[in-house]
Amino acid sequence: SIPMAHGMVKALGAGSHDKVVSVIGDSTFVHSGITGLINSVYNKSAATLIILDNRITAMTGQQPNPSSGSAISGEAAHALDLEALCRAIGVKHVRVVNPHEVPECRKIIKEEIARDEMSVIISQAPCVLLPELKLRKPVSYFTNIDNCVGCTSCIRLGCPAISWTPFAEGEAEARGYKKSQKGYSRIDEVLCNDCGQCASLCKFNAITRGEGK
Ligand code: SF4
Ligand code: SF4
Repeated sequence: SIPMAHGMVKALGAGSHDKVVSVIGDSTFVHSGITGLINSVYNKSAATLIILDNRITAMTGQQPNPSSGSAISGEAAHALDLEALCRAIGVKHVRVVNPHEVPECRKIIKEEIARDEMSVIISQAPCVLLPELKLRKPVSYFTNIDNCVGCTSCIRLGCPAISWTPFAEGEAEARGYKKSQKGYSRIDEVLCNDCGQCASLCKFNAITRGEGK
């Protein structure tokens, strides 16, 4: 995907930098993406590359890769520093983001695709199916429905743990909400996997981590 993005920047010409974004996983970047990035920098590309760094080769069997910090045998191994590598290749604009902080991620993506130079965003968060993460006990988030204004920001994430409860005719006013509010959001604490994305999006302090009510 990285050489294709470079080709598109060249084919589209001046002003194309804010239109071309390539996306690659950490493992694929290590085994075949690095050369494309070297070429992109060398030939003055202006695309944005997003590396999805989930610390494992998630798509093809959960095997570790040179950026995971462990060998295929399970022994500890040197973990490739993707940020340092991209800088060594010559990328001047490298940002590391936590994908669960959704508004911050959106802001950084907008900033980087607006650049007229090659940039890299490393989206870094471990895969939730890693054995060590599967063993953890997730702490559920919950909705404080008294604070929910029904803005639907959390609903639009598409998380299966979040559902929408519509108000019946006249119910919003009767329960002390604005007359125009159509309903409120609820989190199923059994399904919640403790990522925090919904809380990062709620501007009304209506989503909290911890014991639900
Ligand atoms: S983002 Fe917050 S206020 Fe908006 S629907 Fe979700 S819980 Fe309610
Ligand atoms: S914390 Fe993550 S998994 Fe839990 S409800 Fe919010 S978005 Fe879904």
